[in-house]
Amino acid sequence: MSIKVPANGGSNSSERERLERRIAQLCRYIGKSPWVFHVNTGSCNGCDIEIIAALTPRYDAERFGVKLVGSPRHADILLVTGPVTNQSLERVKLVYEQTPEPKIVIAVGSCPTGGSVFYESPFTNAPLSNVIPVDVYVPGCPPRPEAILHGVVLALEKLAKMLKGEVPGVKE
Ligand code: SF4
Repeated sequence: MSIKVPANGGSNSSERERLERRIAQLCRYIGKSPWVFHVNTGSCNGCDIEIIAALTPRYDAERFGVKLVGSPRHADILLVTGPVTNQSLERVKLVYEQTPEPKIVIAVGSCPTGGSVFYESPFTNAPLSNVIPVDVYVPGCPPRPEAILHGVVLALEKLAKMLKGEVPGVKE
């Protein structure tokens, strides 16, 4: 079952603190910090900048060990931006296959979530769920860093359930 993040993702500081506490709590529960691999499938870079903001000192998810890695083989979570252009299509599938199970896919932004203005373009393949299984949707053009952090919380909650065997960890 996929999960959708509210559009504002919670934008006040108390909400941000709640998200940060929840990330720390889930990392302790899982017994590790999730590593993320960022896949740009032809985005305008708007969503990508917000991902960087979520990870770097202003929002600082890295303080919990949520960090970008250079290979999908080391990742627990794929953060996918963009409308899946024809040029990126095979690369997205390959990156998904290279990511070990259990893995979580987060569609970041309106482009991978639903196609946005590129919907039904002959040059794109959005929504991302047409191409690979998606676990969490974070809409917005671009979504705020709080919304991305909220998506990470939902991803960690699902990862925790996978590790406990409550939901299947290996997708068909
Ligand atoms: S959702 Fe908006 S900001 Fe994000 S890649 Fe698409 S057009 Fe750019």
